[in-house]
Parts: sequence; structure tokens; C-alpha cells
Amino acid sequence: MPIIRVAVPVPKRQFFEYQHTSALAPGIRVRVPFGPRKLIGVVLETTDESQWQSDKLKAILDVLDDAPIFSPIQLKLCQWLSQYYQHPIGDVLHSAMPVSLRKGGSSEPKPVSFLQASTQGKQADPACLGKARKQQQLLAQLQQGEASYSSILAQYASTTVKALIEKGLIEQVERIPSLDTNWLDNLNIGEKPLPNVEQAIAISQITAKIGEYASFLIEGVTGSGKTEVYLQAIENVLTQGKQVLILVPEIGLTPQTVERFAKRFNVPVGILHSNLTDNERLLVWQQSYAGQLPIIIGTRSAIFTPMKYPGMLIVDEEHDSSYKQQDGLRYHARDLAVMRAAQEKIPLILGSATPALESLNNALNGKYQHLILNERAGNASHPKQQVLDIRNQPLEFGLAKGIIERIGQHLAQESQVMLFINRRGYAPALVCHTCGHVEECPGCNKPYTLHKQLYKLQCHHCGSAKAIPKRCQNCNSTELSAMGLGTEQLEQGLQTLFPQYTSVRIDSDSARGKNRLNDMLDKINRNEYQILIGTQILSKGHHFPNVTLVVILEVDGALFSADYRAAEHLAQLVTQLAGRAGRAEKPGEMWLQTHDPSHPLLQDLLNNGYSHFARYALLEREHAMLPPHTYQALFRAQSSDPRMANQLLMDISQQFSYSKHVQCIGPLPALMEKRQGKFRMQLVLISSNRAALQHTLSQAMPNIEQLPLATKVRWALDVDPQDF
Ligand code: ADP
Ligand code: ZN
Ligand code: ZN
Repeated sequence: MPIIRVAVPVPKRQFFEYQHTSALAPGIRVRVPFGPRKLIGVVLETTDESQWQSDKLKAILDVLDDAPIFSPIQLKLCQWLSQYYQHPIGDVLHSAMPVSLRKGGSSEPKPVSFLQASTQGKQADPACLGKARKQQQLLAQLQQGEASYSSILAQYASTTVKALIEKGLIEQVERIPSLDTNWLDNLNIGEKPLPNVEQAIAISQITAKIGEYASFLIEGVTGSGKTEVYLQAIENVLTQGKQVLILVPEIGLTPQTVERFAKRFNVPVGILHSNLTDNERLLVWQQSYAGQLPIIIGTRSAIFTPMKYPGMLIVDEEHDSSYKQQDGLRYHARDLAVMRAAQEKIPLILGSATPALESLNNALNGKYQHLILNERAGNASHPKQQVLDIRNQPLEFGLAKGIIERIGQHLAQESQVMLFINRRGYAPALVCHTCGHVEECPGCNKPYTLHKQLYKLQCHHCGSAKAIPKRCQNCNSTELSAMGLGTEQLEQGLQTLFPQYTSVRIDSDSARGKNRLNDMLDKINRNEYQILIGTQILSKGHHFPNVTLVVILEVDGALFSADYRAAEHLAQLVTQLAGRAGRAEKPGEMWLQTHDPSHPLLQDLLNNGYSHFARYALLEREHAMLPPHTYQALFRAQSSDPRMANQLLMDISQQFSYSKHVQCIGPLPALMEKRQGKFRMQLVLISSNRAALQHTLSQAMPNIEQLPLATKVRWALDVDPQDF
């Protein structure tokens, strides 16, 4: 009987062998017995020689697919992932498939829910809905064409949908979407601008490589026309009947971009966003695998979407940290995209206004072709960036007097102002005025953040929360006061200072809920708010043309952080925020409040721009022997007993003590030393040779797994770690 090698989703770095009556193609799912359990695995190969004793092999219970759900190239990529990240192949393949297939669901398409205008609704004038603006919008949208139920729920409240159904204007239908397999016949290139010289060069360089592997880094400030380059490059891929996969950091933040792709080409666009049901996600996967979707847009895990006619890969905002998965299979989607493009023999475009130092390095050393867009297409213009020395300055709600005056001036000119602070909540600590005691999360040994609106203390490291105490736990005093500044307090302060203007706070607390963020952004664009206060979310995806003043409150944390990437991330944030604001006739200004105005890094960034800063930062990394000039792997261990975690890492480091190529640092406590009651330690491996590091790791892993403590202490390996 043939022997089938199966990847089973268990934490073992190996395949397992089973017997079956006939050979099975690689990439087919099977149900197999595994100890007392039945698990769903993926066939890797059929052989007739067992690595073990073949008479002891168990039989496969079920074959779930007629045809492979993974193409040979995808299987190869998963095997590469498994080796590179030292992660069990069974688990890699599981991560690579849609959830419903992991659970053993059929790979045949199932019907999904759609909303469409009813016969009555098609003829109705949306204006007849009077003041119900959202209902009007939804009806108008569905009059243009149907949409999946979940995509509508991502934009509208369910009460809006129900109201229109009750009025008989729209209806819900269940069916398998009949996609036009002949999308090529309907391909209809919409109106497009004439590219400027830099764009034209970029487009022709990329187009010349269609049908072969090449990697491009497009470095161009926000508004320099990167998306337009993608569009015109894609055009040449689509006209050849091939597909394009586009990764974006977060779909909810970029509805306009998605719309731009659909409009330009008049073809179906598959969107993999977080509101999809498992079934809908599967459908996009199937349609793409069948070649029915010419364009697929999604976040990190969309990189696993199979394409029948692969034509091009694009990673937009390639510097974004969301492309690195932070648990389980800790892969970087950008790195996987490079591997995938090479395997599929297609071009890859990485685009950003603030490229990651890794990508910039690859562009400078010739691994990627470097395409630079300096000219500003359209009418965007960036604010002038300046630092404000706040040493010895009285601050009101964290703001210097000069800044408060400026805010007033800009508001008086009917402009919007934007204030950035990287901390949600009211204040980062609650302190006893009598004895100095700070309320701390017992699991993490870090101060709780005070949330006045939710009326609780919340730990931002583990999420645990409790009611705000009335008295000090230490001395029973009632003199408890908030220390430091968060978005909530800043908003309150601005309302006090400028009561005649309206403000909006955008952070993960206020933007919770499906439509909240979109609603807020809509209102900002309609000038219903004059003061915008927020966190990181402000720096992503949106353009605020009427904002003429940007204030960044606290940059000092990043300048003196122990994380060597903090400076890079600050520079990206500042540049991205600047790119979100202003337009030609209203260029505006940006102020950074700091206690260290002459900090060389800040000065370089503000005087010479990101691209100069980044090249200098690369040199610094080289001198400090840091990535991307060296390669790192990180063993993390955590335990309620710090000695256990430490001992495991000591044992692990023994495995590398004779290695010529790999330097071992640690065990050391992690930057976040304790979380949820667990002490966290780490061991860093550094090598100037990636292959040597890989080789050493794969030799050591089997021994490490055999270590007595390896089954008692929770540990993980993170290859190319992004945070410490
Ligand atoms: P980016 O992706 O770099 O932020 P976009 O491609 O979105 O830039 O371009 C910014 C704006 O300029 C968009 O409104 C776009 O339609 C417009 N634009 C881009 N290229 C051109 C061009 N060659 N001529 C005129 N307008 C352009
Ligand atoms: Zn006290
Ligand atoms: Zn905590």
C-alpha cells in the first residue's frame, strides 16, 4: 500500500506517515487518526518507503478533497516558511488556509447573503427617504449594484439595513455569486491621468518585467502618485488576463483606495477584510484560485491567497508593522511576498513614503530596483516641520503656550488642527498625592491607565481592568490624582481652551464598533469637527486636506527608547502624519514638542526629510552591528518563575556556544519584563550571515525541543524579531 506523508497541525517539526489504498496528490486534505484525536492534515507526498516501520502505520480515515487545495508553488512556499521560521509544517499549512477549510469544511463554494434593490427599490428616488441620510445612501448604492451583506454591514448600521428591508426597497438573497469568468472581455480602463516623468519611468520599468521575477521599491511621499503607478502597472497585467494581489495594512482605513481599483478597471475585486464570515473568506479564496478574481486586496494573511494566473504582487505601505505576525507563525508578509514573487516568477512592488530600513537597504544594495517619486502629483502639499523646546515651559494640558496660541490662530482661519499623542485613556497613571503610591497591574507591574469615560483603571499590557478606587491602597488617603496625559484628557483640555469649536477623538476606544471610524472620518471631511485628537490611527490611510496645523505632543519617549527601532518608527510616524495634512493653497505647519530640541535624529529628519534620515540611520545600524546589517533570531521564554525561564534560555544558549557564526546575547529580561503574572526573558542570536544563522538554528532545534525544561516553560522562537 502507498505510504502518504501528511502535515498534521501539531507542534512537532516533522511530517507523519499513514497508509492509504491509493496514491494521493500533494495539497489534498485528509482526516487522520492522531493519538486519541482525529485531525485534518495536508498530503505532502506519496512514497513507497517508510521512514519508520510501515506495518505500524495507521490508515487515513477520510480524503476531503478531489483536487489539491494548495498548488505546488504554495506547498513549496509553506515548506520554506516552515524552515525559515523553524515552525511545524502542519501548523504553517493550517495558517495558510481559510478557517472553514481548517475545520474540514467542503472546498466547494457555498451560497452567501447578498443585498440588492427590490423592483420597487430600483425605481424609488432615494430622496423620498427624507431625513434618513444613511438609508438614502444605502439605497443609492444598491441601485448601482448588489453587495454582500457583510460588506454592507461594514459600512452601515444593521438598523439602516433592516429599515430599508421593511420598507420593501431592498431585499436579502442567498446564492453563490455567479462571477464573470470572462472578466477580461469586460475589462474597461477608466479615465486616467497622464503620468509625470517619474511615474512614467516607474511604470515602464515595472511593465518590462511582467512575466518574470523582479522586486521594486517605490519610495515616494504621500501624494506623489504611487497608487497611480500601481494602477497603470496593473493595467498591463490585467490586459494579459493575469491576476494581481495587493496587500494593505488595514482595509477599514482605505475604502477609497479599494474603490479606486474597482472603478478604474470595471472588473470584480475580491476584498479580504476582517468583517467577512468564514464562508465569504473561503469564497474569495476559491474564486481567486479559479482565476475568477483579477484583483484581490487584503491584509497580512491575504498573502496566502492562491491565484490561478498570477501576474503581480503589491505591498502598499510596506513599512507597516502589521505585516509581521506577532504570535504563532511569526512570519513577515513582506518577506513572504518576495519569496512568492520569485517562485511564481512575477514582479513585486513594495511602496511607501517611509520605507522600512530593511527594504531601503535592499534597494540601495541592488536587490530591489529603486523607483523614486519626488514630484508631487495632484495638489497635496506638506506642512513645514519644526520642533518646540518645552524645557522650563509651563504646560497647560500638555501644551506649550505658543502652541495653544497657534491652535487658536489656525482655528480662527477656519482650518482644522490635529493633535497626536500616542496614549489613549485619560492619564497613564493614578498616583496618591499623600504617599506617592501608584496603582499597578499586579500581573504586569506597570501602572494602570486611568479611563474616566469608562470609569475604570485598565492595564494596557494585558487588558485587565478594575473600578477606580476611591482611596489609596497603601495609606487610605482620598487624595488620588491623575498623572500624565492621554487622549481623553487632551480632548477635555482643548474643549476647555476652545469651547466655541467642536472636537473629535480618534483612538481604539472611540473608534470601536464597525462604522464609528468611517462616520468620524466623514464628519471630519465635512468640517463638522475643527479639532482632531488621536493616536496612531491618524497616521494611516487618510488625507485631511483642511488640516493646517499638526502637533505631536510627546516625542521624547521614542528618542530615548531601549528599542533600537523606535527612532525609525518615530520618523515614519512624523512623516506619515505630515503627509496626511494640508493641500497646496493651505500648506500649514507641524510642531513637535520635545525636551531635546537639538537631538541629531530629530534635526536630521526635520531638516533633510525621511529619506536622508533613513540613509543615515542605516549607517548607524551598520556601526552598531544591528539589522538589516546583521540577522537576528530571538528565543522568548515566559514563566511565573523567572528562574525557570532563565534556566531554559541558559540551556538553549549552550547549543550555540561552539558556533563560529552566531553570537548569543542573554538571557536578559524582555523590555516588558512581566505580563499577566509571567516573567519574560529572552535570548538574542546575532549573525552577519543569514544562511549560517539559519543552518545553526535548524541543527539546534531538535536538541532544544528535547531539553527537559522545553516542555515545562512556554517558549517561542522569533526569526527576524520586530519587537523585544
Ligand atoms: P500616493 O499613492 O503616492 O499617495 P496617489 O496615486 O493617490 O498618490 O496620487 C495622489 C493624487 O494625485 C490622487 O488624487 C491622484 O489621482 C492624483 N494623481 C496621481 N498621479 C497623477 C498625474 N500623473 N496627474 C494628475 N494627477 C495625478
Ligand atoms: Zn497613599
Ligand atoms: Zn496587566
